[in-house]
Amino acid sequence: MAPKDNHLPTAEMQALDAAHHIHPFSDSAGMRKRGARVITEAEGVWLTDSDGKRILDGMAGLWCVNIGYGREELADVAARQMRQLPYYNTFFMTSHPPAVKLSAKLAELAPGDLNRVFYSGSGSEANDTNIRLVRHYWQLMGKPNKRTIIARRNGYHGSTMGAASLGGMAAMHAQGGLPIPDIVHIDPPHWYAEGGDMSPEEFGRVRAAQLDQMIDRLGEGNVAAFIAEPVQGAGGVVIPPDSYWPEIGRICRERDILLIADEVICGFGRTGSWFGSQTYDIDPDIMTIAKGLSSGYQPIGGSIIRESVAQVIEDGGDFNHGYTYSSHPVAAAVALENIRILDEEGIVDRVATHIGPYLKERWLKLGDHPMVGEARMVGLMGALELSPDKSARAPFASPGAVGLITRERCFANGLVMRHVGDKMIICPPLIISESEVDTLIELAWQCLDEAMAQAKAEGVFTA
Ligand SMILES: *Cc1c(COP(=O)(O)O)cnc(C)c1O
Repeated sequence: MAPKDNHLPTAEMQALDAAHHIHPFSDSAGMRKRGARVITEAEGVWLTDSDGKRILDGMAGLWCVNIGYGREELADVAARQMRQLPYYNTFFMTSHPPAVKLSAKLAELAPGDLNRVFYSGSGSEANDTNIRLVRHYWQLMGKPNKRTIIARRNGYHGSTMGAASLGGMAAMHAQGGLPIPDIVHIDPPHWYAEGGDMSPEEFGRVRAAQLDQMIDRLGEGNVAAFIAEPVQGAGGVVIPPDSYWPEIGRICRERDILLIADEVICGFGRTGSWFGSQTYDIDPDIMTIAKGLSSGYQPIGGSIIRESVAQVIEDGGDFNHGYTYSSHPVAAAVALENIRILDEEGIVDRVATHIGPYLKERWLKLGDHPMVGEARMVGLMGALELSPDKSARAPFASPGAVGLITRERCFANGLVMRHVGDKMIICPPLIISESEVDTLIELAWQCLDEAMAQAKAEGVFTA
């Protein structure tokens, strides 16, 4: 094996980083003061930082390293493909073996007649493709007014102009003039925070009915599609009540609008099926994929499209859309190898039948902690709702402060657990072992204790 790269001392890297590198979604001023955390290697579920400290990665990178770190097979496939054909495009009626094989494999895995794949370099780009594709589809169907896309508050669909517009993140819309025209948002089925006295099932139906009401308001002849994540990820692992998706599916069918399931997090085993649409029995026209598609080893995303929808696009002449890196051969070869490993090692089934239930049982017990108002989990993604008064499901007076304290306690104790406001999130690699789950749970409880004590000392533990 080739020797590992030596790296500069941590302080020198932090200084250079602060001088020359702008970070996504980061507090630059705070980071300058403290210095960026520098990760230098990883194996399995464990990260190692530039000072040699080991950290349990409870987030699988950014919800993506489904097969875990350090799989030599993916490195070998990438090197082989780079030597044979490092790059060629698929524009202008050209193809190459990795694109052919990956497309056939995805069509086999995807439910029903989702049989055609359009590739991108990321989930954001795939959702931009979806915006153009559904509008073009309705144009070709002779209904050019069907342009508006309905999405959800707190949804996350990426960071490009189109994808961030589909997303329902107020802090993102506040920068750069978003959303772009003809994208509107309804409320998500977040029962813990917004369900009040309703039962979860009743609340799920009420939130689904908002789709019907929005279509009425806009006029059915003006609506192209509805887009949603099967489980809202970055919004805080918002697991929908069982009543929600059947209603959404019925409304989309009856009102003749396309349904886009953004599977960027839920896809490739996260919820215990290949796709979240299978876990929730959703019948989408398009699925957005990225992240777990390559377990993050290469940047690649795509849209898997229902055959009848794709047929209309294909019969309509050129689709004037594409990325230089659409179906990149190295990324496609790595994705294919990643899928082979997920499949042959039974990793997806293991989430459904073994490690998912194992983690869930222990995770839900964190709900007994005095600071945790709710613990929830599906497959291997879960959230804790922090609260100063759990019996009332009360939020904190200064939102996000206790979540941030908790995240920092986790880092200090060697656990990556992300915070979304005052929700704590985990989404570990799917290959996590039982003993690593035990470690994760022990660390999480300890960090909650420490964070609660610190929050009280700082005077922010108040409703
Ligand atoms: C991460 C994410 C995206 C965006 O993917 P990128 O590869 O970061 O562009 C889109 N949708 C969902 C649900 C995501 O979690």
